[in-house]
Formats: sequence, structure tokens, C-alpha cells
Amino acid sequence: MVSVARPPANFDLETDVVVVGAGACGLTTGLRALEGGAEVVVLERDTRPTGSTSMSSGFIPAAGTRFQRAIGVVEMPGEFAADIQKKAAGEADPVIVKTVTEQIGPALEWLADTHGLEWQVLDDFRYPGHTKHRMHAVPEKIGAALIARLLAAAAAAGLTVVTDARVTTLHLTDEGQITGVSLTRPDGATESIACKAVVLACNGYGGNPELVAENIPEIAGAPYFGHPGNTGDAVLWGRELGAATKDLSAYQGHGSLAHPHAILITWALMMEGGIQVNAEGRRFSNEHAGHSEQSVTVLAQPGGIAWNIYDDRLHGIGMGFPDYREAIAAGAIRSGTDARALSAITGLPADALENTLMQMVAFCAGKAADPFGRDFTGKPMLSGRLHAVKVTGALFHTQGGLMIDARARVLRPDGTPLPNLYAGGGAACGVSGSRVEGYLSGNGLLTAVALGFVAGEMAAIQIKEHRF
Ligand SMILES: Cc1cc2nc3c(=O)[nH]c(=O)nc-3n(C[C@H](O)[C@H](O)[C@H](O)COP(=O)(O)OP(=O)(O)OC[C@H]3O[C@@H](n4cnc5c(N)ncnc54)[C@H](O)[C@@H]3O)c2cc1C
Repeated sequence: MVSVARPPANFDLETDVVVVGAGACGLTTGLRALEGGAEVVVLERDTRPTGSTSMSSGFIPAAGTRFQRAIGVVEMPGEFAADIQKKAAGEADPVIVKTVTEQIGPALEWLADTHGLEWQVLDDFRYPGHTKHRMHAVPEKIGAALIARLLAAAAAAGLTVVTDARVTTLHLTDEGQITGVSLTRPDGATESIACKAVVLACNGYGGNPELVAENIPEIAGAPYFGHPGNTGDAVLWGRELGAATKDLSAYQGHGSLAHPHAILITWALMMEGGIQVNAEGRRFSNEHAGHSEQSVTVLAQPGGIAWNIYDDRLHGIGMGFPDYREAIAAGAIRSGTDARALSAITGLPADALENTLMQMVAFCAGKAADPFGRDFTGKPMLSGRLHAVKVTGALFHTQGGLMIDARARVLRPDGTPLPNLYAGGGAACGVSGSRVEGYLSGNGLLTAVALGFVAGEMAAIQIKEHRF
């Protein structure tokens, strides 16, 4: 579907910067490049821009912002970078890690100051691997609101976002300079736009089963719960352009997708004291290791499912999340007065579930060690009315992609940049190393917003330098 070709004799339109994709990365890029004085066109294949951004929880980690300081958290980007590398076992590209951890704070403050986005820092729980409260969210605490606010900012700033415009072709000269793109409309009509720089913000290849099977066989065939339009176009173009790719086996999985409702059940339930049991009523893992790697662990259980078990206190925390409330409305959450009542509703073996909860009492009291290595002390034992939701593992988005430098320029295997091609978000190599375990929660929107901020600024500077 995508290709690289020589330029047509004439282009239909002309602009400075073309941005491919209108998710968090593309809209941030567009706003930043526009502010830098460039003429920008953002091209989006869908009729309405949503992307994986709108499906996400919308939580963006950042260190050193005034929003963080407002809740009494003081930290330097280096501390955040250390958490990223710890989760990635030191495998994450150090240049990209440094770039995104240093740029995300200024990017969020700029989105607030210049474009009116409001940020709150979540202080009621921390995801696995985060040593500080640093998740920033818009007040609605959901990705759909994040994209809505970015689109409102784009409209207010006069950013041109063209929808129903799938970019199919990058046009380039023999010297490798991109001179424009071609796009296809839903009715099959094509148009071409000349430009001086292109930013790929079209996310990864979660929606391309062949690329997933080729690069991440362990999750091939699992449910994909990201945006279906993310079909790996950036990587496919990169191959044709001779660009370097990195960490294509990395991805964000999730071990808590309500089944069969396909609604994300927040991992906060696990972090604050909940457990996962399999269909035999037994725990099978350390739930605090990470929700990403839990995708494959849950899929390896009988029937490829697990049950999240928690109590009223945790149910109260869940109620703070829009998707959790959606799960209630969909009938995904089952409740019972005690373990036996819950077993009757869920079909879980009552004796096994009771036994699991009995063991937990000892773990919470610090009288026995969890064989899976989770520290249960510090959180209360489950008590009173219990709740359960059947979940499965899923692929949320891919983390590998085009290799870039600190200016978000796409690189060749020898480390030199392609003349005028940038990438950010899921289109670029992420900061999770090469394995599912390497994904620190928030790595997705971190690179989308931070690299969009960088790519937009750098593309505008490049245009200016050429113009004057
Ligand atoms: C359920 C879920 C929850 C998540 N929660 C979080 C979270 O809380 N925090 C976090 O950091 N990350 C989270 N993520 C990951 C996060 O959503 C992504 O990493 C992030 O949205 C990527 O942003 P993006 O702009 O690169 O891609 P997207 O938002 O997917 O945007 C890419 C856009 O490009 C368009 N496109 C693709 N190809 C073309 C083409 N050829 N021409 C034109 N347009 C094209 C697509 O239609 C799409 O609109 C979550 C993901 C999921 C699925």
C-alpha cells in the first residue's frame, strides 16, 4: 500500500512541512512547527482524528514540571531516565531517553501556556517502575479528552488538519531529498503535496498482522487493542528509504483487557492491592512486575484469561477512571459478598479462591513471602465485598521503529540523517529496549508528545534556514 517514488511533474499543492498522522505526536508536531513559522499540513487517514491516543488512558509521564511541583514532587529528568532504563534493563537508546525525558516537561508546560491544555498529576497510585508521581493527565483522565483538547488547540491556532487523507507515497529525488507526498482519498482519488520536510507521526505496526508476526511472534494472534489504522507505514517507508530501524520486537502489551468486552481495566487496581488469579483460582505471577509483560503471562494461562480480584476500596479507586465506569455499564464487573459468593458468580473454584485469599492474609501481614516476589505489605488485605472481572492479554502498540537522533531526524544505518525526514511517537524507535518487559507505563505518549515537540521545532528551523 505504501511506496517511495520519483516526484510527479507537478504537485497539486505546496506547503513547508507535511505531518503524517493526527494523533498526539502529529498534532504536537504541527502546533510546534506552526509556531516556528512554517506552513504546515497534517494529513490524517481517518475521517475524524482519533489514533491510539484517543484509546489510551492519556497519562503522560514527565519530570520537573510545575504541575509536579504543585503536588510537592521535585525531580530531575535524569531520575525519570533512570527509571526508564531500569525497566528496559539498560537497553533503551540513551540519546532518545535523554531527549524525551528532558523535552517532555517543557512540552507539557508549552501545551498548557500556549495552547491551554490543563494538566493534573495523578497522586493516588504509581505504575510499576515509576519511583515518583509523574503521570500528567488532562482533567477528564482519558485519551479521548486529550485528543479533543489537542484538536481544539489546533483549530484555535489555525493548524491545517486534512482528514480522509491516507498518505501512500513519499516522493524523493535521486539524492534522497523528499520533495512531497501523495495521498489517497476514500473514493480512490489521489492528490499530491510538495513540501520541504516530512514528519512521520503515523505510529507503529500493531495494526499490521504480517509485521507483528515477523517481528514479535510471541504476541502474534493475540487481540490488538490499538488503532487499526496504524499499519506500519513508517517502517515500510523506512525500509525503502534505507533508514535504520531499532527494537522492532518491543511493544506495549497489557494483561488487563476485560474479556470479551475489550475495555481496559486500570492496573491501579493491582498496584493498590488487587490480585490476578487464573481459571483455577490460583495466582500465577507478580502483578507488580509490569502490566505490559503481564499480557503474555495472562495469555499463557488456561483459556488465555485471568480474573482481577479486588474489594470495595479498590472499586472506589477504579471509579475514578472513565473506562472502568464503562466496564461497569457493560456488565463486565461481577460482585459477591465473599469468596464463595464470587465463585458462584464467576465459576472460579471456591476452595482454590479461598485458599489464595488466605495465603494473601499472610503476605499482607508480612508473615510469609509471596513465591512470585510481590511485596504485599503496605497495602491493606482485601476485605468485605469482592469484585471480579475476567481479562485477557493484548497488544496495545509497538515500541520499535525508525532510528532517530536527538533532533528526531530519521537516521541511516551509518548514523547519518536523511536530509529532511523526521519521526516521532510510535513511528520512531521508543525507549523500551527490545522486550515487552522494557515498557515503562507512559513510554507511548512520552515519545509521542516529546518527539512531536522536537520534530516540529526542528522541521521549522530547517525550513527557516533554507528560506533565509
Ligand atoms: C488502550 C490503550 C491505553 C494506552 N494508555 C496509554 C497511557 O496512558 N499512556 C501512554 O503513554 N501511552 C498509552 N498508550 C499508548 C499510546 O496510546 C500511544 O503510544 C500513543 O497514542 C501514540 O501516539 P501517536 O501520535 O504516535 O499515534 P496515534 O495516536 O495512533 O496516531 C497516529 C495517527 O496516524 C494515522 N495514520 C497512520 N498511517 C497513516 C497514513 N499513511 N496517512 C495518514 N495518516 C495515517 C492514524 O490513523 C492515527 O490517527 C495506550 C495505548 C492503548 C491502546
